Amino acid sequence: MKLTSPRGTKDILPDEISLWHEIEQVSRDLFDRYNFDEIRTPIFESTELFTRGIGDNTDIVEKEMYTFEDKGGRSLTLRPEGTASIVRSYLEHNLEHTQTHTKFYYSGPMFRYERPQAGRFRQFHQIGVEHLNTTDPISDAEVIALGIHIFDELGLPDLSVTINSVGCPTCRPVIEERIKQFLGDSITKLCGDCQRRYNEQPLRILDCKKETCRNYLSGMKDIRSSHCQECRDHFEAVLEYLDVLGVEFNIDPKLVRGLDYYTRTTFEIVSNKLGAQNALCGGGRYDYLVESLGGKHTPAVGFAFGEERTVMLLKDLVETYENALKVYMIPLGQPQRCKCFVLENNLRRAGVKCELGTTDNLKAQFKKADRMKAQYVLIFGEEEAERNIGILKNMKTGEQTEVPITKLEKTIKGL
Ligand code: AMP
Repeated sequence: MKLTSPRGTKDILPDEISLWHEIEQVSRDLFDRYNFDEIRTPIFESTELFTRGIGDNTDIVEKEMYTFEDKGGRSLTLRPEGTASIVRSYLEHNLEHTQTHTKFYYSGPMFRYERPQAGRFRQFHQIGVEHLNTTDPISDAEVIALGIHIFDELGLPDLSVTINSVGCPTCRPVIEERIKQFLGDSITKLCGDCQRRYNEQPLRILDCKKETCRNYLSGMKDIRSSHCQECRDHFEAVLEYLDVLGVEFNIDPKLVRGLDYYTRTTFEIVSNKLGAQNALCGGGRYDYLVESLGGKHTPAVGFAFGEERTVMLLKDLVETYENALKVYMIPLGQPQRCKCFVLENNLRRAGVKCELGTTDNLKAQFKKADRMKAQYVLIFGEEEAERNIGILKNMKTGEQTEVPITKLEKTIKGL
């Protein structure tokens, strides 16, 4: 039987990797400009971190975690998201007191046992930020603006920001009661998931994607009318800060998101080019997560975006980012090959991307250089070796020049 990668996972092959590098490079540059520092956490954590952090009743914890027991009998889980790990690390290393600021970012693979489809995988990659210890609405606007900035820098068109506020422990019970009252007996006509959520998480009913459930909820008034004054003021301030930056947004009173820890602001950056899985980036405020993981009250806000979906959009714009070979060397004869091996080594140490040919067949070697999109070819045969020169051919113009070997590095670097 032919071996393949597990269902819901995929190899990222060389023809696509430059897009991944670009996304990672652009993100890293911007995180630095916005003063976020990187934290790398383990890919697996104790299961309890996620059951306590994300919430027992969420889809992720109920159905999607890759949980296993190690040989020491510990229950471990492949991380389904990054926020809980950052918070664990923040608490474990007392980062509140040891760092000058508490703005962090992370990137890497996440794992969820979901039904694979276009844009949805079981192993996928997220890049995310977390700003811990801030109640300031300017922080919510800052992370949203940062998300948009990354996608702008990558050149992705037609994205929009959707934003909402899901309230806080003061007004959440009022909102939930309103949802229950509004639905009343109709709840039996909603899908199984919504029926289950009726008691545990009525808020999540709002963002059910099923047509029938959506129809039942269409007449419901905006939940923001049930917000407490602090939540209203906070939301208004976030919107004002977005306005002053010129960030456009749509308010969607039904945007709830799948993780239990969100309070107040929730947002998504969506693309209409992604089909059903249209969210590129999701995030919000999570003022009580640090507490639920054993820390003191530490409000926070963050986002995560998916690299796979970002690559899908980038692919429509560019196939790859150019990272062509500068020089392909064609040695003719074994002593020349050995000499070229040394030249190649020196060029690489001088920062030049180059490759050494393998056979003496000139025609086949030129074909190979062409396939590798080499900018220059260096021909080095017996005669050239005697004269201590190489023939450098510009593959675009066809122009050939003789270059003294002693000046090769300088010449190539100057091209
Ligand atoms: P979440 O952690 O669910 O808030 O998701 C944040 C972002 O991660 C989404 O907007 C997607 O871009 C990406 N994402 C989440 N789940 C998956 C998945 N199963 N496959 C691919 N990307 C995902």
